Amino acid sequence: MELVRTFADSQALYRGLVGLVPTMGFFHEGHLALMKTARLAADTVVVSHFVNPLQFHDPADLERYPRNLERDLDLAASEEVDVFFAPAATEMLPALTTVVVREISERMEGPGRPGHFEGVATIVAKLFAGLQPHLAYFGRKDAQQLAVIRRMCTDLSFPVRILAHPTVREPDGLALSSRNVLLRPEDRAPALELSRGLLKAAEVAEAGERDGPTLEAIAREVITSTEPEYLELASQENAARLVELNRPAFLALAAKVGNVRLIDNVALDLVGGQIVADRGVRLAQTSLLYR
Ligand code: AMP
Repeated sequence: MELVRTFADSQALYRGLVGLVPTMGFFHEGHLALMKTARLAADTVVVSHFVNPLQFHDPADLERYPRNLERDLDLAASEEVDVFFAPAATEMLPALTTVVVREISERMEGPGRPGHFEGVATIVAKLFAGLQPHLAYFGRKDAQQLAVIRRMCTDLSFPVRILAHPTVREPDGLALSSRNVLLRPEDRAPALELSRGLLKAAEVAEAGERDGPTLEAIAREVITSTEPEYLELASQENAARLVELNRPAFLALAAKVGNVRLIDNVALDLVGGQIVADRGVRLAQTSLLYR
């Protein structure tokens, strides 16, 4: 594996099909799953490693975001990543240009995090243009982000195939996030209510319930220790709220637990006219986050 700092140095190492895994580092098994999947399909696997200041609304959140380059280099190397792209901010931050994916960015996460998806779309556009991957891997954990990026690629004709990976969860169901290391022991039980609520509603959806507000209420009933910022059934395509579950959807929420803002969702896919929930995958053992 080569550690590179510039787009040119990254491209100089390519052979064959290039798969990119964009990340902000402090790896967990969710990131590693994207790398493993990329490794199976691509001749050259590139991992980008950049804590994107543009996507942080809250400066304190950016400040305490966990970072450890040495640890991440070891983990990426053990996944047989070819190119580890860790750019300086000067390589990554455009001075005057931004990318705004309207409407999709304004829903759900949008109101609570002004500028968040603009920051994400701008940096992902820059990565796509500068690194020119054929394939790019994203997690379903960030379902709205996935919709934003897919739409950006369609609208701006980026020649990149976007591939989505199921959410990787801790053994107790909590969606893996680098921020989970910031949870205190007493935050664990309230945090667990989030995935339990979503999974309960997903079960009811699979059993035939199609009413959006009913599904949202079923999830809400389980979540008693925190008040979610939002909890909505939305279209996978554009994150618009769905009153009726009649297309590929996701039930998503954001909630503050202790000092940490967590997001989670369960995708409700349409398979042969049936709703099938993507519950993600669960680790069999404690995450490497806590090692
Ligand atoms: P991040 O470093 O948090 O920006 O995440 C980098 C990529 O990993 C994004 O595409 C995320 O959606 C994905 N990701 C983060 N957490 C998970 C998870 N628990 N399961 C699957 N993918 C994830």
